[in-house]
Parts: sequence; structure tokens; C-alpha cells
Amino acid sequence: MEKICVAVRVRPPVDLESSTTTTNSNGSHWKVEDNRISLHRSLAGTPLPPALSYTFDHVFDHDCSNSTVYDLLTKDIIHAVLQGFNGTAFAYGQTSSGKTFTMNGSDNNPGIIHRAVKDIFSKTNMSTEREFLIRVSYMEIYNEEINDLFAVENQKLQIHESLERGIFVAGLREEIVNSAEQVLKLIEMGEVNRHFGETNMNARSSRSHTIFRMVIESKGKDSGSNDHSSLDDAIRVSVLNLVDLAGSERIAKTGAGGVRLKEGKHINKSLMTLGNVINKLSDGAKQRGHIPYRDSKLTRILQPALGGNAKTSIICTVAPEEVHIEETKGTLQFASRAK
Ligand code: ADP
Ligand code: MG
Repeated sequence: MEKICVAVRVRPPVDLESSTTTTNSNGSHWKVEDNRISLHRSLAGTPLPPALSYTFDHVFDHDCSNSTVYDLLTKDIIHAVLQGFNGTAFAYGQTSSGKTFTMNGSDNNPGIIHRAVKDIFSKTNMSTEREFLIRVSYMEIYNEEINDLFAVENQKLQIHESLERGIFVAGLREEIVNSAEQVLKLIEMGEVNRHFGETNMNARSSRSHTIFRMVIESKGKDSGSNDHSSLDDAIRVSVLNLVDLAGSERIAKTGAGGVRLKEGKHINKSLMTLGNVINKLSDGAKQRGHIPYRDSKLTRILQPALGGNAKTSIICTVAPEEVHIEETKGTLQFASRAK
């Protein structure tokens, strides 16, 4: 089993909390040095030793580009997926910390999904030895219900398991795709569906997990000769999951009730289960014991692409502002447990 690659990314400071002006800074800030992130405090201008310090496989400071994040964190996964292994990359963090910026990017700064799709097509198109069949799907888990983002009518889908197909989401639309452009168009369509009938799209998107999935099937090209090695003749199927998780903020803090409370419970349960699963996986085979994949839809769906020979990375995004220090600590603790 491969070690799970754990990274932290600090987003640039933005004025998102103008309504809760916190200008009375007490001098705390997060400092990034190499693969270490530390919380520094100063007293009357005099720096104190770091209050907290964590190291990870990578720590990306606020000026780090999506291109660097992709190269250091996702490229290896894509490479493995094209070799026939499964792979999963997660973005974890509180709302507004940069998960969607990392996964989807912005207009002039494409994110991990865009780059992975381009990379996969450029590599598969170049292959002289194998031919590929690529399928994509896009789903949302909201309140422990699975919705198909490629088809608004496909709501509340169920997870099934069969000998032939393994674990699968019954009825989930899978599109056969031939180009990166086609995939990116489908994702755009999925984003529109995601907000279908929503009055508050940000609220919904921060409370749901989205899984963008590519299934890559390949077989050796028929060279016309009879002496194929059996290995090259075998059909390989691998799955890549790119996951934008629900916001990790503790809902209780904001005194949520009703629908929000229900959402919060589901989010906390699935993120906690994910934490437990990853923690067990990174513990190594001996101490591992039972892995609670079945405790949430998220981990159940991802089960085949977590553990085993799968390659996994998790990027934990954090907000640098003073007002977010407690949430940031929570995120760094989650990240530490994943190591
Ligand atoms: P989340 O998906 O975690 O709720 P977003 O990705 O939507 O957060 O980020 C919140 C805001 O901060 C967005 O306007 C986004 O463009 C911006 N942002 C986040 N991370 C970065 C970054 N690394 N560089 C520049 N802008 C960022
Ligand atoms: Mg988001």
C-alpha cells in the first residue's frame, strides 16, 4: 500500500469577512517554510517561538500556482492511473479556504480537474501501444443522498455491489468521451445542474461533496502479429476520482438548526468517516484492522480507489486570516491524522 500523500495549501488573504471586521489583529500568523507550517505569535512586536508547527509532504504557500500543485500532487496519480492503478485526490477544508479553486480553478487559472483531463488525453492520444476507452461521471453527495450531476432526473441513487462490477452507483450516467474539450463542457453542464432549483448556490455547494470520476479502460493495440505477450493483451481498467469535499467547518458553532443542522450532521459524519478510513489506511497493514468504509456513502463509493494499490493524495486548504485560526488548526489536525 502506497503512503497517502498529504499536502496543505494556504490561500492568499482575501477580504471575505468584511461583515465581521477583525482588524484588531493580535499578531498571529501562519508561516510556511519548506514543508512546514507554523503558527507564530508576537507580543508587543517581539516574536515568540511558534505556538504550533506541522510538517507534511508538501506545504503550498499563498503564492503557489495551481500548476505547481498539480505537478507535485496529482501528476503521479495520473501516471499511475494510466498504468492501470486507481487514484483519488481530495480537497479538504473549511468553506472559502480554496478547495474549489484548487480542484476547478478559475477562468485563467485551471485547477487540478482541468489539468488532469488534459494530461490524460494528451498521454492516451500519444500512446502507440494501447487503445483507450474513457468514461466520465460527475456526482454530488448531499445529505447522504447521491445525485447525478450529468442528469438532473437522476436523484437519490443507490450504491450496489456485484461480482462483475464491484461497488457501483446504480443508474449513474457515464459519458464516453473522446476529447478534453468534451469533458470540460460536460463538467460545465454538471455545474449548472448542481445549482438547479437552488436559491443559494454557495450554501448548497459548500455542504455537498462532489466526485468527478474518470474510468480509463485500455487494451493493447492489435499489431497484426501473433506473439503478443499476455500482459499487453490484458484489458486494464482504472478509476480516477477527483473530490471536492463539503466544507469542514463545525456547523454547531454557528448555532445552526433544522435543515442546516441535518446537513451538518451528515457532513461531519462523512468527513469523520473519511478521516478514520484514511487514518487506518496510513497506519500500515499491521494495526489496520477493520476499515469503516461502510459508515458513509462517500467512503463506500471511493472504497475501490482507496487503499490496496490505489494512489491517494489529500490537499487540505486553509484560510490565513486571524478569524479562521481555530478552523485552520482543525484542518491541520485532520491533515496530521492522514499522514
Ligand atoms: P471553497 O471551495 O473551499 O469554499 P473557494 O475555492 O471557492 O473556497 O475559494 C474562496 C475564494 O478565494 C474564491 O474567490 C477563490 O477564487 C479564492 N481563492 C482560493 N484559493 C486561492 C488561491 N490559492 N489563489 C487565489 N485565489 C484563491
Ligand atoms: Mg467550494
